[in-house]
Parts: sequence; structure tokens; C-alpha cells
Amino acid sequence: MSVKYVYMFSEGTGKMKELLGGKGANLAEMTSLGLPIPEGFTVTTEACTLYNTSGKVMSDEVKAQVDKAIEELEKISQKKFGDTKNPLLVSVRSGSRASMPGMMDTVLNLGLNDEAVEGLAAATNNPRFAYDSYRRFIMMFSDVVIGVSKHYFEVVLDEFKTSKGYKDDLEMSTEDLKELVATFKKIYKDKHGDDFPSDVKGQLYESIAAVFRSWDNPRADYYRRMNDIPYDWGTAVNVQSMVFGNMGETSGTGVIFSRNPATGENKIYGEYMINAQGEDVVAGVRTPKPFEELEKDMPEVYREFLGYSDKLEKHYKDMQDMEMTIENGKLYILQTRSGKRTAAAALRIAVELVDEGLITTKEAVLKVDPKQLDQLLHPTFDPKAIALAKPIGKALPASPGAACGQVYFTSKDAKDAHDRGEKVILVRNETSPEDIEGMAASQGILTVKGGMTSHAAVVARAMGTCCVSGCEEIKMGTKSFELAGCTIKEGDFISLDGSTGLIYNEVIGTVESEISGDFEKLMKWADEHRKLKVRTNADTPEDARKALEFGAEGIGLTRTEHMFFEPDRIPKFRAMIMSDTLEEREAALESIMPFQKKDFVEIYEAMEGRPVTIRLLDPPLHEFVPHSEEDYKVVAGITGKTVEELKAKAAAMHEINPMMGHRGCRLSVTFPEITKMQVRAILEAAIEVKKNKGFNVVPEIMIPLVGEIKEYRFVKNIVDETAKEVFEKMGTTIEYMVGTMIEIPRAALTADAIAKEAEFFSFGTNDLTQLTYGLSRDDAGKILNDYIDNNIYEVDPTARLDRTGVGELIDIACKRGKSTRPDIKLGICGEHGGDPYSIEFCHHVGLDYVSCSPFRVPIARLAAAHAALGAVNER
Ligand code: ADP
Ligand code: MG
Ligand code: MG
Repeated sequence: MSVKYVYMFSEGTGKMKELLGGKGANLAEMTSLGLPIPEGFTVTTEACTLYNTSGKVMSDEVKAQVDKAIEELEKISQKKFGDTKNPLLVSVRSGSRASMPGMMDTVLNLGLNDEAVEGLAAATNNPRFAYDSYRRFIMMFSDVVIGVSKHYFEVVLDEFKTSKGYKDDLEMSTEDLKELVATFKKIYKDKHGDDFPSDVKGQLYESIAAVFRSWDNPRADYYRRMNDIPYDWGTAVNVQSMVFGNMGETSGTGVIFSRNPATGENKIYGEYMINAQGEDVVAGVRTPKPFEELEKDMPEVYREFLGYSDKLEKHYKDMQDMEMTIENGKLYILQTRSGKRTAAAALRIAVELVDEGLITTKEAVLKVDPKQLDQLLHPTFDPKAIALAKPIGKALPASPGAACGQVYFTSKDAKDAHDRGEKVILVRNETSPEDIEGMAASQGILTVKGGMTSHAAVVARAMGTCCVSGCEEIKMGTKSFELAGCTIKEGDFISLDGSTGLIYNEVIGTVESEISGDFEKLMKWADEHRKLKVRTNADTPEDARKALEFGAEGIGLTRTEHMFFEPDRIPKFRAMIMSDTLEEREAALESIMPFQKKDFVEIYEAMEGRPVTIRLLDPPLHEFVPHSEEDYKVVAGITGKTVEELKAKAAAMHEINPMMGHRGCRLSVTFPEITKMQVRAILEAAIEVKKNKGFNVVPEIMIPLVGEIKEYRFVKNIVDETAKEVFEKMGTTIEYMVGTMIEIPRAALTADAIAKEAEFFSFGTNDLTQLTYGLSRDDAGKILNDYIDNNIYEVDPTARLDRTGVGELIDIACKRGKSTRPDIKLGICGEHGGDPYSIEFCHHVGLDYVSCSPFRVPIARLAAAHAALGAVNER
């Protein structure tokens, strides 16, 4: 049986996107709805795949089916293809399953040659229009089929107009256009060797083939990879009778949205142009008019269009983006699709469609892309200004938002400038916990080193501050840096886009975004559908409060290290790790304990009895070693040791690879006193908050970096022993839980043994990814660029959970953990906890909750609902 490669619009339906592409399926659907669609047919995606996999020749079978469809079109239109009296002209339009804007091309006015153009002139009694169409066709055909860029023709056109003193295309006469046609044909011949093809069937086959090939071009390849569109989908090709917007004052073309795509307001929004063809609106040859003015220009057409717009919205149950053309006062619809929109518009449209009774709350939830919510929670650049701005560099989009400010190079300078009232961008080689204050004082952070989970990236995301990280091209000077030939000095203004990673050497205005009532409504609907709980990673009461506002249901990770880095605490902690005796160490810790306890009290109070997971001290000891001479002197003052002695000690602590060195639960093994102090602070604070505020806090004490059950048991013993002491001393007891991070592959593999003694697991996917890949996240930045460029990795695995490898370890750990403790509580606290694609995985693998930075909580809530509703997240 022969395969059907060609469908008339009247044969297809809107459901046939796979075969007919989005554009083709919608044209078919609109045809059956009775809208005025110029007749045409679709050559299927299967024909495209056949073409691209069989040596790029169009099979006779496909050609024969195209021929038959053309005959069909001739019958309907009562015109003849290539005729010298009344020629049929067609457009050849690409259209894949997923919309790929600008990736593939269109040829208009196909079917013209030196004889047919005369026929067209005679049949329409409009030679100017005929030659205008011809010159457009030569240009588009050359561009799309032969690859002679439109640009050559546009330059000639501009020169021509200038020589004649014209400002507007419309001033060109028939004679001018004839001359232009001759010149354009000459360009074609010069570039291509042969004469411009006059055989119209040949023009058609060649154009269809060119669109098939465009599926294979590097630009489309790149776009597909970014958007995870499989190569074997192919593109369909639509061949459609031309309708002409360039026939004079009663003709025109336009692009219209059924609602405002920027605000979501339920008011039609668009632009049109009189006496023009489709591509003129996009190319900006003349300034289009706002759609409302059509009401005056052509009131009947205007009203007719409103009717179709309404009909299409009701039919597709979504805001539509439509193309129309008016030929001599008659309206045609050429395309419709769900319109792209801003996050604010997406929310408003989803909520209002529910109010209008068009969709259910479930459908509304699915209409908003979780990733898009980022836009709402952070400042963005003024869209007009950013469109004109030229970036000087690009690095990792580590934390979203837009920032514009003056550059400073140290945390202290940044803070001082902030205190003077300046807006600040902190530029660092890399950041460390000591930079916190400067980071908090900044609008944006730019680093030379470090990937998506570097210190700067993680902290900036938690703060909701814009961050661009890992810009290896930067050359740092003293209080200045160089990038792309620009030297930027302290105090100079730059702008950063944390959502794209782009860096600008200029001032670009930003606008704060607002959270609307629509947001609250939609999030409530999302909550009704999701199974996963959403917690937050919060190290401070401010973080915790912010996250609660965004709907967090608990804390999944409180890191305790920052509590040691505060300026008044770090010298004491340094004294502690550099002391020789247990007594010295305990004395130093004793002085830190009240601070630590106060931190916990505030966090518990902020959370009002919701669950709080606290991780015991985790970072490599080496991070605490003094840096400057000044630091050493302070520690010398506390300990009574000389600076030389201290330096010798520090040297002994030096590690080649601290990330895999003296950190995590290993600290508890060497310095049990630290763990004891922390557990005391955690439990005493909980008892106090229960007593004073009545919140029933059940602290979840989390042991980091466990790889072996005996290691876990060792630390858990310290926790339990300390708890006993605390309860005895305070004369009361309190419930608490002890569990572990799963972040070492060995822990995942031995999860059954560990779960016998651990009450919960939290997947630390930052370390788990790093250790599974054997790729240091601090050095990943520069390596990953090359890996991604060379198609070795598709995406950065530290940003998007690798389901295949790391995911398998998580799955194993869940299953084995449950085999020995069926009710074990399972969560994730790595950065992936805020990424929709990763969250979908967490849902399927059966975790109880995800935990992410406060600003990602709404994204996680919505993504969890999408996962529960069975939506497949794009990567
Ligand atoms: P894109 O996907 O880039 O929008 P299209 O295939 O939609 O490409 O076509 C580009 C322009 O040409 C659009 O403005 C469209 O309305 C116009 N166009 C396409 N086919 C026809 C036709 N048969 N008659 C008139 N204009 C057309
Ligand atoms: Mg289009
Ligand atoms: Mg870790």
C-alpha cells in the first residue's frame, strides 16, 4: 500500500500535529471550522524524514502526490499553475510539530515567471502589483532555495530607492519594479550560475526540498538541542494559494493576538499594514498601525475578524496568535497558534479563562510554565532597552533577575558603596562565605570562576540576587577588569542578566515585578493537585520568612556553616580548630554556642512549628583557615599562640582536594565537641521555643556526607548522648529525628543498612552529582562549556538532574531504604530541588518533598502540580 504523503487542508484535523506539523494541523482545523482559509495542502513530516534519509532526493511518489494536489487546487481556484492568463500562485511554508520561530523559511508568490507575471498583471488589471509580487518571489526563492541571502537584494533595493529619491516602497512605479526584477534575476545568475528557473513545477519541488533541508541546518540543529526537539520529527511543508495584501489601498496584512500578550488583558492586540505582504510587518519596512485603527479603515473586516478571533479562542481554549491578510476588502486567516506571553500575562489569562468558564482549574495550572514564574519574582530589564543593548560577554545564568549598578571588587567596598546609597555589582574571581555581606549589599554578582552550584551561585539564588558566574574570559586587574576589549574600573556601571548570563557594559533600566492576586489563585489550584510537599533551603530567619510568603511548608535544609562565618564568630571558631587541647577547644565552642542557639530559636519561631531540618557542620575545615595577616593576628590574640605557630598549623591542615577531604561527618569524628555543641544548641532552642511560644518543634538533625553505616552510627551516638544530657539538664524532653544526607554513591548503594538507623534521607544532589560524575563543581565551569559545545553533555548536570545515572542512584536508595524502613521520610535538598525537570523526576521516584531556595518555592509548587497532572516537562 502506498503511503499518503500529501493531505489537502480539508482532509486533516487539529489533532494531526505529528504528521502535519502545528501550522498544517491548525490550517486544517480552521478549514473545518469554516473560517476563510486560502485552500492548500500539507506535505507530511514523514516525507521530510524520507527526503533527509534518502540522499536528499524527493521521491517520485511524493512528487506525484504533490502534482495531484496542485491539480486539486487548480480546480478549486479556477486558476492554472504557471498560466499565462490567470496563474495560480502559492506560498510554501514550513511548519514542524513544535514551533521553531525563525528557524525555517517561507517562499511567497511561487509560480511566477516572465510570462505568468504578465498573466497576473492582466487578470488583476494591476501590473504594479504583479511585478511587486515577482520581485518579492525572486528574493525569497534565492534566499531559501539557493542560500543567496536576502541581504544582497535588500541592499540593491535600498540603493535603488535612494537613487530615485524614494522613502517608501510604495513610491516605486511599475517600471521601477520591472527594472528591479531584472536586477534581481541578474543577482541570482551571478551568484548561482544558472538563469532564474522559469519552470513553475521545478520552483515548487525545489522550494519544498529546501524547507525539508532547513530541518537539517546548523541553526535548526542548535535550536532543537536547546529545546529537546528530536531530529526525527522532521518538518511538514504547507503549500497554500496566495492571497494578496499588496493589491492596493483595500488590501493589507496583520498579526493579531486575541488578548494582550504582555499584560494578559482580555483585549485584542495587534498590528496591520495596508498594501503589504506578510513578511513586511516583521521586516519593519514601514511602521504598522495598531489593530484598533482597522475599525475606521475597514469596519466590516474589523468586525468579521473579531468574530473569528473569538471563535478560535473558544475553540482552542487559549489566547491565540493569528495572521490575517485582506485582499481587496476580503479577509483571510493564514495562521493561528497559542500565543507566547509573559509570565504575568500567562497567570492572568489562565485565571480569567477559568472565570469565563472556558477551562478547568487543572487546565489553568497546566497553562503556566513553572520556569516562567522566575520572571515574576525578580526584577527584569526594561524590554525596550534590553532589545537595543549589546552584550560584551556571556557566562552561566546562575541566579535569575536583572541588575544594573556600579562595579566593586571586594565585599567591603561593595558594602560601603551600598551604605553610601549606590547600586552595586560585586565582581569577584570567586566568592567565599566571607563575602556574604558584600553579596547581600549588591544588586548583582559576577564571578570569573565557578559553575551553577558554586558558592556564589547557591548563595545568590538563596538571596534572590542576580548572579552571572564563571565568566572565564574576564581578565582581572587591580580594581578593574577587562572583557571583550573593554576595561571596566571600580565605580563604572555595568548590567547583568541572571536569566540569560549576558553581561552589558552600559546602564539598562530595570523594573520590579509585582505579585498579583492571579498568582495567589493559580498557586492555590496548583497546591490542590500536587503530591510532593515543598520545603525551602533557609539558613536565616529572613530566608525562612521569605519562603513562607512563597508558600514553603517547612525547611528541608538549614546549613549551619554561615553561622560560624559571622565576623564576631569566625575568630573564635578559628581559635577552636587551631587549639591543641580539648579544653581549649571546648572553651572556644562554649563562647559560640549562645549565638548558634539564638539562630535556631529565630528560625523555629519563623517556621511556627513546621518541620525544620538542620544539617550539622559540613564544609571543608580548610575554608575556615585564616586568610590574611590580620586574621592571623586576631586568632593569635585569642589563643596566645604566635602567628608563626598558627601558620604552621594552617599549613598542616592544607588539603589537596578539600571537597573530598576533611568535611561533613568526618568533622564530627575528629571534633566530636563541635557536634555536641551544635546538638545542644538545636535541642535547647527547640525546648525554649516550645516553652515560650508553644510551637511544637521536632528538629530533624541531618548528618552530612555519610558513606558507611558505622560512620553514621558513630555520629548518631554523639547526637543521642548529647540529647540525654540536654534533657537531664533542662528537666524536660522533646521529640527529635536523626537522619542523613544521601550524597555519596556508596550511601545510596547501602541505603538498606543506613535506613535501619536513619529516620530520614535527604538527597544532596549537588555532591551526589559531583561524586557520581567525578567532576568537581568548583572547576566544572570551564570544562562544561567545552563538553556542551562538543555535544558530550547536553546540559550542565549540576543544574539539571541526570536521571540516567544520578537518578538511578536515587531510585536505588529509595527502594533499598524503604525495604528496611517502609515509612522513611524522603526529600531532596540539592539545587535540583527547584528545577521543574528534576522535580518531575522526584515525583515519579516517590519522594515526600523537595526543598529549594526561597525564590524557587513557587516554581517548585507549580512544577510538582504539573508532575502530578502528568505533564511532561520540557528540558
Ligand atoms: P512564519 O512561520 O515565519 O510566520 P509563515 O509560513 O507563517 O512563516 O509565513 C510568513 C508570512 O507570509 C506570514 O506573514 C504569512 O501570513 C504570510 N503568508 C504565508 N502564506 C501566505 C499566503 N498563502 N498568502 C498570503 N500570505 C501568506
Ligand atoms: Mg507565521
Ligand atoms: Mg553536600
